[in-house]
Amino acid sequence: MNFTVLTLFPEMFSALQVGGIVKRSVESHRISIETIDIRDFASDRHRTVDDRPYGGGCGMVMKPEPMAEAIRHAQGKYPEAHTVLLTPQGSLLDHALARELAGFAGLILICGRYEGIDERVCQDFVDEELSIGDYVLTGGELAGMVVIDTVSRLIPGALGNEQSADEDSFSTGLLKHPQYTRPRSFEEAQVPDVLLSGNHEAIRQWRRKASVIRTFLKRPDLLLDQPLTSEDVKYLKRLHQDIEAIIEKHSP
Ligand code: SAM
Repeated sequence: MNFTVLTLFPEMFSALQVGGIVKRSVESHRISIETIDIRDFASDRHRTVDDRPYGGGCGMVMKPEPMAEAIRHAQGKYPEAHTVLLTPQGSLLDHALARELAGFAGLILICGRYEGIDERVCQDFVDEELSIGDYVLTGGELAGMVVIDTVSRLIPGALGNEQSADEDSFSTGLLKHPQYTRPRSFEEAQVPDVLLSGNHEAIRQWRRKASVIRTFLKRPDLLLDQPLTSEDVKYLKRLHQDIEAIIEKHSP
């Protein structure tokens, strides 16, 4: 998978290659990250990429010509790539969308700055608009890095253990169960006995139950769309009964 990033700050993307899975994936040629400086496509000697908004108002808008030329250049080099504009107005990035993006041969990621990009470029040069959350960043670079990071770990072979992406939160539709490592006892807190039992079926059941209950407590919205097993429903019913008993006991 090739990531081609269109940005005014190419140097920011070196942060991705300081260490960890993204760096390893670049080194093992599973992914490549290429940056294109939008300013290189400006036509004047000041390398101007922004201008005042028509109709007035505050801030500056990214000019269409340099941006369009930069996109054409990237699309010419990677005709199979999917072109994504990072914008707070796009579809919200989630695990399912990250999986879809991981299926493309390449991604061209367009990072805006200032008040955003001339609308004509947004309409005619882009396959998809993507947001990383309902808040406004000063630029698309951090959003682009989030996309590269989360998509990279879904590329086959990127993670040391092939299973781990499938067991992570959201992959199964639930949040992941609690995890522990040594020491067995830490400041009075103990690792649950079942995890030390060596009984694989008991461990599986404990983890599934913990996953269901923690999803209910932290993100109940996820459970509404998730096909639950009869075992999962049993855990929720037990929880429901316990909560009812507590309410009953303390009701006037
Ligand atoms: N004026 C724009 C608006 O209200 O929709 C916001 C522009 S923002 C200050 C500048 C750039 O940051 C955007 O062009 C976009 O590339 C990026 N950006 C800001 N928030 C983002 C988000 N939540 N997700 C993805 N990109 C974002």
